[in-house]
Amino acid sequence: MDALLAGDLARLPELLGMTREYAVRFLAGLDERAAAHAGWRAADGKAPLPAEGRGLAAALAEFGERWEAGLSGSAGPRYLGFVTGGATPAGLAGDWLTGTYDQNAASGGDSCAAELEQETLRWLRELFGLGDAHSGAFVSGATAANTVGLAIAREWVGERLGVRVSRAGADALGPVTVLSGAPHSSIGKALSILGIGRDRLRTVATLPGREAVDVPALATALAELRGRPAVVVANAGTVNTVDFDDLRAVAALRDRFPFWLHVDAAFGGFAALSPAHAHLTAGLDLADSVCVDLHKWLNVPYDCAVQFTRRRDLQTAVFHNASPYLGVPDPADPDFLHLTPENSRRLRALPAWLTLTAYGAAGHGEIVVRNAACAASLAAALDAEPAFRLLAPARLNVVCFTLADHPTPARLAALSAAVTASGEAFLTPTVYGGGPALRAAFSNWRTTEADTARVHRALVTAARDLPAPEQPRHQPYRGEEARTP
Ligand SMILES: *Cc1c(COP(=O)(O)O)cnc(C)c1O
Repeated sequence: MDALLAGDLARLPELLGMTREYAVRFLAGLDERAAAHAGWRAADGKAPLPAEGRGLAAALAEFGERWEAGLSGSAGPRYLGFVTGGATPAGLAGDWLTGTYDQNAASGGDSCAAELEQETLRWLRELFGLGDAHSGAFVSGATAANTVGLAIAREWVGERLGVRVSRAGADALGPVTVLSGAPHSSIGKALSILGIGRDRLRTVATLPGREAVDVPALATALAELRGRPAVVVANAGTVNTVDFDDLRAVAALRDRFPFWLHVDAAFGGFAALSPAHAHLTAGLDLADSVCVDLHKWLNVPYDCAVQFTRRRDLQTAVFHNASPYLGVPDPADPDFLHLTPENSRRLRALPAWLTLTAYGAAGHGEIVVRNAACAASLAAALDAEPAFRLLAPARLNVVCFTLADHPTPARLAALSAAVTASGEAFLTPTVYGGGPALRAAFSNWRTTEADTARVHRALVTAARDLPAPEQPRHQPYRGEEARTP
């Protein structure tokens, strides 16, 4: 054994203690750490491949010197960009232990790992109001969950048309129409991966001033397909304004038109945990496939999401990986390696299992309720400021707003940069209703009303310090015109 490796093996408990100290120091400093760094670069980000190692202690020290300062406070309470979430104590512990145990949850043949995943999936199904007909699997994120759901959808369209797409290929299927009101960008990516094609995504009109699909317009689009089976992606929580399609009304259209209903509930699915918001997810169980991200609002570390479907048989047709050494899938209970793009896979369920066991549905419901209350507080506070204009009500956990005065892309970018530079908060830009906007997305278990007040102050200060809007270019007035050659 390499001498450094042997040395680390001999000191393993001490080295793990040192690693723990690193983690504890980082987490203790989260409140002072800048929420994000714009354009941070390592002082020398081009170190050569170490020909000779230095052992873990020296490697950790080097990481601390060269990289740690550039890490964002994304695990902390005022990082409100994208929809991020942090890691609960149990989620973090679960992730450490996942690495420690280093199990391969591909199949149930050698350990209890796959069974633990099954138990966790049952709990999650109940948490999101899904019934026994849905089976699931852990994947790396919502993009992967959407891709798996749409791969099953593609196989289903083939079934309706008498084509086994998983054998004959996507071209044997011909064009597939995918309809959605306000889809997440990952849907286009999934369609590209699956050979359906990004251009096959047709966006359907949404309700006036909303991001929820206009159901009669969806019916019209389906009617135009004249009975050809299609795919509908319903959205349970859009990223800009967290709007929800009427899932029951969308699902009811299946009585009239043949389509697969995939629901992207990446973070909106967590509305089911809040009594005041649970109605938004009504009908989720009617979906043929569902995507929920866990590294967002369950507050487990990246990379972790789940996909559910009612057609595990079609899922196995797409993803099975039969071989003499892996075996053939048991149709009644296929191993996970036959269900997702991965073959070998980490025990992703453990952080979710631990956090659900530690805090329960009640503890996780409290996070959702508190985050939604913080979003409502920030929305109310910004609404009361003359400098800002809300672009939508805070329906769940996101505040989407812009500047009241001259909301130009340059001024919004300057506002966002000033907030980031303050270190107090991090918000991400978007375009909503044709104009530039900012979003504050609450999904971290640590965030309190005190944090929300700090974010509000940071925004007000940044808006006050913005340079005055450029005056519109001088228009010549009558008379002046006449004097200009
Ligand atoms: C975040 C998100 C995704 C993509 O999730 P990743 O985990 O980043 O792959 C998809 N859909 C919606 C609605 C999301 O919010």
